[in-house]
Amino acid sequence: RGMMVDPARHFIPIKDLKKFVDMMAYYKFNKLHVHLTDNQGWRLPVPGYPRLQSVASKRTESFGDGIPHEGMYTKKELKDLVAYCAARGIEVIPEIDVPGHNQALHAAYPEFFCFPKPDMKVRTVAGNSRELVCPQKPEVWKFYAAVFKELKDIFPSSTVHLGGDEAPTELWKKCPLCREARTKAGMKDEQEQMRAFFANMTALLNKNGQTPQFWYEGNAGIYHPGETVYAWRQDQARQAIEKTKKAGLNLIMASNEYCYLDFPQFPGQYNWGWMQTTPLQKCYELDPAFGKSAAEAGHIRGVHAPVWAEHLPDLNHLLYRVYPRAMALAEAGWSPMEVRSWENFQRKVADHRSFVLKRFNYDLKRTKDNEPPFRWENKK
Ligand SMILES: [Zn+2]
Repeated sequence: RGMMVDPARHFIPIKDLKKFVDMMAYYKFNKLHVHLTDNQGWRLPVPGYPRLQSVASKRTESFGDGIPHEGMYTKKELKDLVAYCAARGIEVIPEIDVPGHNQALHAAYPEFFCFPKPDMKVRTVAGNSRELVCPQKPEVWKFYAAVFKELKDIFPSSTVHLGGDEAPTELWKKCPLCREARTKAGMKDEQEQMRAFFANMTALLNKNGQTPQFWYEGNAGIYHPGETVYAWRQDQARQAIEKTKKAGLNLIMASNEYCYLDFPQFPGQYNWGWMQTTPLQKCYELDPAFGKSAAEAGHIRGVHAPVWAEHLPDLNHLLYRVYPRAMALAEAGWSPMEVRSWENFQRKVADHRSFVLKRFNYDLKRTKDNEPPFRWENKK
């Protein structure tokens, strides 16, 4: 029963993360997945790599607003967060996204990439970049060894999320070092190189007694049996369940049409032109097994609610989008389908309304993008 926060896109101070965690604990979520790195920012300090702080943790603006944005946790703060979560029954799973989603890292350390661009800037808009770290450069492995050492020092979790999503391999295809390596190893394409890259990353983590998780990208063959992946792509959950079962993978259900809580939760709420509206009842209807039997879906380990934050600049916005829908996903994580009742759930949600709203004191004036005022919407 996890939730993911995204301080890479908009930095979340630890004091605000703790408020978010209080609420998670109340609704019995037990995994906090922290997306620490992305194109738009890097939030984990790593000894020996000062440009993560001076370059990768800052950007000039967000979506043309002209306002610089930055943020970096300290090791002490992250340890404090881990302890705070542990006291509330929550394990913190850090994410370092590889090999893609790394424009911020490229801005700081262009030499890690196939085609270094010294003028690369930390990304200021949404969307992905084509930049993947180059697996053929020894300095890349030295860097990730240092990153993982730091993760091990901070996070007692046996699991590290390595992303692995949306990694277009076109630059690997062109890179002379990557080409030579593929030829030498007899690899037929870049997907085989991706599989080897994940295996090497996994070996690095294993040295610290940790194992990886990944965002599932539809091709079960690039992962290794026993690994855990998250189904996230829209309307692909059923085939993800089938393919991961065959491949011997564990699966966590985060299918975005039910689980992405940054999506608008009622018609009229801002969707930035592409997010589908996901009302409370839709979240409540999530069957993590998608109707499959225990034999077919026994490898599903849990339910997960990512909250991407390209457009969620602060705690107020996070909570505004996350509640009350997180309650529906909590129940989906706790209760088998045969005991679920939408009518009963609506009554419970109504009882919680004042608790949630008072506790976090939604400041409606602070929502931007012409959001309509927050409504506590129980219906479709
Ligand atoms: Zn390369």
